[in-house]
Amino acid sequence: MEGPGPWEPFDIETALERVRAAIRGYAAAAMFELAERGHASLFEQLVGCLLSIRTRDEVSLPVALRLLAQASTPEAMRRLGRERIESLIRPVTFPEPKARTLHALAERTVEEFGGDLPCDAEVLRSFHGVGPKCAHLALGIACGQESISVDIHVHRVTNRWGYVQARTPERTLAALEAKLPRAHWVELNRLLVPFGKHICTGTRPKCATCPVRSMCPRVGV
Ligand code: SF4
Repeated sequence: MEGPGPWEPFDIETALERVRAAIRGYAAAAMFELAERGHASLFEQLVGCLLSIRTRDEVSLPVALRLLAQASTPEAMRRLGRERIESLIRPVTFPEPKARTLHALAERTVEEFGGDLPCDAEVLRSFHGVGPKCAHLALGIACGQESISVDIHVHRVTNRWGYVQARTPERTLAALEAKLPRAHWVELNRLLVPFGKHICTGTRPKCATCPVRSMCPRVGV
């Protein structure tokens, strides 16, 4: 390997192509995995995302699958009740407030929207606990809406690449919306979450063997 680099200009298409190849074999981010296992409705995606907050995918994914096996619709989740939800989701962090949030999500979805959530970011964000990351990712996966979901991995990696220069995930989102070709908006999160977990990690990123190394300025590393 040549060093210290970069020794070729950064190109987002090439970078994403290399990331796509590099992450084959790693587990998909939890919400994409949920969709692949048949839980692709907006409600199910939001449930998966709310469970994953401050909890590793390895923990939240099996919990989401267990909960959705019992109640995959708002009506069924409402009937399940807060206490039962809490006992089913116990391995995730903050099970009690998360159970309350999930039950309230189900209840309001039934009462206000007849059990069918609209593909509308503002509506989704009006639910307690649903932030821009969950809303955008769920809309992208469940509704096919082009939206970018910026979590800590997307924020860290795109800034290390120098593709954006932003101090917060919110600013990274705005910068990406202005710059990233729309064809990659939904896919970006699916690619960069496993890439950020296994290669461009928070501490001690694996630059020596990274497939993007030749064009990465490694900002802040
Ligand atoms: S692992 Fe290193 S070389 Fe690869 S994208 Fe991250 S900072 Fe750049």
